[in-house]
Amino acid sequence: MTIPNGALVLFSGGQDSTTCLAWALSRYAKVETIGFDYGQRHAIELTVRPALLQKLRALSADWNQRLGDDHLIDLSLIAKISGTALTQDVAIEMQENGLPNTFVPGRNLLFMTVAATLAYRRGLDVLVGGMCETDFSGYPDCRNDTMQSLQTTLNLGMATQLRIETPLMWIDKAATWNMARELGGAALVDLIREDTHTCYLGERDVLHDWGYGCGKCPACELRARGYTLFAAFP
Ligand code: ZN
Repeated sequence: MTIPNGALVLFSGGQDSTTCLAWALSRYAKVETIGFDYGQRHAIELTVRPALLQKLRALSADWNQRLGDDHLIDLSLIAKISGTALTQDVAIEMQENGLPNTFVPGRNLLFMTVAATLAYRRGLDVLVGGMCETDFSGYPDCRNDTMQSLQTTLNLGMATQLRIETPLMWIDKAATWNMARELGGAALVDLIREDTHTCYLGERDVLHDWGYGCGKCPACELRARGYTLFAAFP
């Protein structure tokens, strides 16, 4: 079923956002992508995006026809104002408040708000993000309540009827891999394994079953554990 709306997908080049993009391409008549350069200390995510988009186009004639412009937005001000392990060269560890120091306060609020502004200009009415409550790191801006509340706020503030869709909100990483298989078969799973990037440390030397990465940082552990469970599915 194709929904005649236009969607803007928050597309970082990681596993989750690539799965969200495939999900949107399977539903909406028109899909554009937005990425943010915010001084990530390893910008590998950003460098894999163009190749991923090309390969997604090659997977399906429908997807190729629906996929429109990609927008890369400079949000380097985040690094200037937040000071976290994602943007500084310090060890990843837990803080006293129970959140890892990779937490960029309010990052998803800012991303969604910038996306809403762009969607307004582009005539798109659905925002798609890979936020997930199921096996997240406790980031409060990944919560469903946060996204629902932001949707209300954005629509009040812009006199719009935008919808925020978060297809991964209630599923774990194994189910995210499975969703990719349902949307694009083994070819999409392979593309996500080999061409997306999730590792916090920017490691891309060794290709594991679950993709490239150091295998030790929280993002790699989550991705690897999910893939192992998924690969055990019949
Ligand atoms: Zn890693």
